[in-house]
Amino acid sequence: MALIVQKYGGTSVGTTERIKNVARRIAKWKAQGHDLVIVVSAMSGETNRLIGLAKDIQEYPDARELDVLVSTGEQVTIGLLAMALKEIGVPAKSYCGWQVPVVTDSSHSKARIQSIDDAAMRADLDAGQVVIVAGFQGIDEVGSITTLGRGGSDTSAVALAAALKADECQIYTDVDGVYTTDPRVVPEARRLKTITFEEMIEMASLGSKVLQIRSVEFAGKYKVRLRVLSSFEEEGEGTLITFEEDQNMEKAVVAGIAFDRNEARINVKGVPDKPGIAYQILGPIADANIEVDMIIQNVGEHGTTDFSFTVPRGEFQRTLGILRDVQTHIGATKIDADDKVAKISIVGVGMRSHCGIASTMFRTLAEEGINIQLISTSEIKVSVLVDEKYLELGVRVLHKAFGLDQAVEA
Ligand code: ASP
Ligand code: MG
Repeated sequence: MALIVQKYGGTSVGTTERIKNVARRIAKWKAQGHDLVIVVSAMSGETNRLIGLAKDIQEYPDARELDVLVSTGEQVTIGLLAMALKEIGVPAKSYCGWQVPVVTDSSHSKARIQSIDDAAMRADLDAGQVVIVAGFQGIDEVGSITTLGRGGSDTSAVALAAALKADECQIYTDVDGVYTTDPRVVPEARRLKTITFEEMIEMASLGSKVLQIRSVEFAGKYKVRLRVLSSFEEEGEGTLITFEEDQNMEKAVVAGIAFDRNEARINVKGVPDKPGIAYQILGPIADANIEVDMIIQNVGEHGTTDFSFTVPRGEFQRTLGILRDVQTHIGATKIDADDKVAKISIVGVGMRSHCGIASTMFRTLAEEGINIQLISTSEIKVSVLVDEKYLELGVRVLHKAFGLDQAVEA
């Protein structure tokens, strides 16, 4: 008999009917003799609704009080789920983050978990209770409620699984696993039976929304066995996130294709090619707390060079504003910018041992007449920036070119 942490996301607990379904599912696992700790999100839409209320009152809501407010979404769900379980005869007990306690640092709205006391939960499990914990929330050293960032319940679940040394952490969501790419863009996309941690981290940071990236990092660090499954299907093994890269020799070189529309490109032309330029351009942008993603600078010629980078689309205008000052200061000739761009990335640990992956990507895009504006790479991914209108086409042809629509997994 195993100790299992299960997390149910917002859509899975979006109505009282669905909460009753979740309770029935938990009851089945319990009947098989497992010890269960359940983490829940707020009912779908609730966190956004609460943030909206705050913004009706303060344009920039007070960080401490915003956490007091938004953490209530999860408190509603733990109460309802505990009732639903008791109603069908399963002993259950709910906990807010502070009651566990889940101790975090004090960075409101993006707090990091520092420690979790498992004593109370253990005692309840030993007494045969299903333990239900509110995701997304904790308490800092001075007793203030904190939250872990949007999608943070995933991280709560993984952290609890690590603290309890659970046999598995199961993330129940509205998809039945991790896919080779978004099935809404490529209907042939397939569910992966396994994906490595490194690939999952890349996929999450490159725009795949299945898991909060921090939760994957956490699982990698503490070696938590993590699985993504659908809460709407009775059976199904979902996708297991593995540590072993080569357990499956038949695995495709490219595991998946991620994409992100939230990109804007900025190209600073004719900047003097001398030390300190990258810092002079990007320093003020970092100071304004704008996250820069891709960065490209070429070897200069005749004393000048071009400098390109991308920022989130919502920060496009603000970035341009900052750059106008920078441009005069450093003497760049021109700023060329475009916020109708998108990033497509291929991800796979197999790239380490195979060459020609990037060239297959570039050839495939060229055959469709898709122009590549910027390229960036890591050991296990290649990303390209293209005109937004080619995003879907690009993802589709790459999915095919790398054989992702054929079942290749053993
Ligand atoms: N309710 C929070 C959110 O919407 C946390 C979560 O669902 O994971 O971001
Ligand atoms: Mg989520």
